[in-house]
Amino acid sequence: MGLPKKVDYFIIGAGIHGLSTAWHLALLLKSKGKGDGSNILVVDKAGIASGASGVACGVVRNNYFQPAMRELMAHSVEIWENESEAFHYHPVGYMQISPKVMEEDVATIYEQQKSIGYESTFIHGEKKSFDYMKNIFDDWQAKGITSVLHEKRGGYANNTSSIYGLAKKAEVEGVRIFTGTTVKGFKSANGSGAVTAVETDKGVVECDQVIVGVGPWLRDIWNMLELPRKISIKDEKGTIRGDYPMWHYWFLTEGVIRLNPLTQKANDGNMPPVIHVDTDAPLYSDVDQSLITDKLWGIYYKPDFHFNGIQGGSSPHRVNMPAEEVNVDPYGPDSEEFVVGDDFAHMWSSALAFCQKRFEGKSHLYKQGPTGGLGCFTPDNFPVFDKFRENVHIIADSNHGYKMIGVGKLVASEVLDERSELLEPFRFSRFELGKLHPTSNSPFPWS
Ligand SMILES: Cc1cc2nc3c(=O)[nH]c(=O)nc-3n(C[C@H](O)[C@H](O)[C@H](O)COP(=O)(O)OP(=O)(O)OC[C@H]3O[C@@H](n4cnc5c(N)ncnc54)[C@H](O)[C@@H]3O)c2cc1C
Repeated sequence: MGLPKKVDYFIIGAGIHGLSTAWHLALLLKSKGKGDGSNILVVDKAGIASGASGVACGVVRNNYFQPAMRELMAHSVEIWENESEAFHYHPVGYMQISPKVMEEDVATIYEQQKSIGYESTFIHGEKKSFDYMKNIFDDWQAKGITSVLHEKRGGYANNTSSIYGLAKKAEVEGVRIFTGTTVKGFKSANGSGAVTAVETDKGVVECDQVIVGVGPWLRDIWNMLELPRKISIKDEKGTIRGDYPMWHYWFLTEGVIRLNPLTQKANDGNMPPVIHVDTDAPLYSDVDQSLITDKLWGIYYKPDFHFNGIQGGSSPHRVNMPAEEVNVDPYGPDSEEFVVGDDFAHMWSSALAFCQKRFEGKSHLYKQGPTGGLGCFTPDNFPVFDKFRENVHIIADSNHGYKMIGVGKLVASEVLDERSELLEPFRFSRFELGKLHPTSNSPFPWS
């Protein structure tokens, strides 16, 4: 079967956002008696889960300092929970373990979680935090920790399996998915900004609405749509700064230690929550005791049968070059430039040993091989969900997005002209209006 000549809804990208939107849009059309998924086309230049969604660690958490993220995450967690089997979701919970400098920020997160009924426990004080952790892992030994936020919901999902699960859901509703099909440009009618057709390497497809979920490739589609490469931003003092680059890249570092995932069981014999530790205690090498860093640092990890070991990551690196010059392809493990090296392996495995005794002397088990991947970020490092050129809905998740399975549901409603309150804080106009998301004291740009 060839590419259709015309569809109502043209979706670019078969990752978490494109497929979640396709599935939810098909359900919504059906529930409104407006047809089914057969008028929805998803195209991907490579394959299902071939982008960031297929390399993500898969962590699902609510812990964000930015209030607008909290409700959006709670909405997404509900979808993960409702479809845990189909999406290979493990509801083990999540822990944010922090130093003094972050305690106040994390306390506000806890208060906001309480107010929206998102179940969590907050412990503060060095001894109480240590005892709480020791009660979960008897070999806990991390220093410089003064608070623990234990989210009882959240956890992680298996990256490619969940995306295949989503594709199946969409196809059951009649959605067509064309892989190996690259979008090359857009056509519009004279005098209108609206897109009337999408040009691909397999032919032109006329359409009424376009939905873009292309993760790290957003820069390219943005340029094809002739949207601004530089924007104006109002800062907190009300001063407008023009000429601000719309996109920049971060490199996300992750890896695996080849230990049986069962070695990370908690004291109660169950699989433990995802652990995220930030601290300003000095980090020393577990190999030769040399100082690795005495600045604020952070890691996260979980036992994971999908990766077959203890998998996780540490704070990302900003790519210090203009977005236009960054080589996004080949992506992920295939990249020659943006994959983790020995430095990451040394730091991350030493940090694991810093946290739990069971990881001491295990650096040699680090699984060598390319991991990690690029993310395309907005100026404040938070998502943009908005409509451009009258009929193009862009999902630019700024790389928080694997967990945001619920965004597709909200975007599907907007495609059918029902505006979503939860998406309002993420409009493009916030930069010009100075309504940026607040920044926290975390070493991660998106926490
Ligand atoms: C190493 C790493 C770890 C991460 N860990 C987590 C995590 O634990 N939790 C979390 O919430 N988030 C995580 N993220 C972020 C998350 O993976 C992304 O935010 C999310 O997957 C983006 O989803 P997407 O659907 O927008 O894009 P993608 O999954 O990247 O999919 C985009 C698709 O678009 C296709 N495409 C691109 N250009 C074109 C074109 N011109 N024509 C046709 N198709 C095109 C690509 O082939 C690709 O398949 C991580 C990211 C990385 C890199």
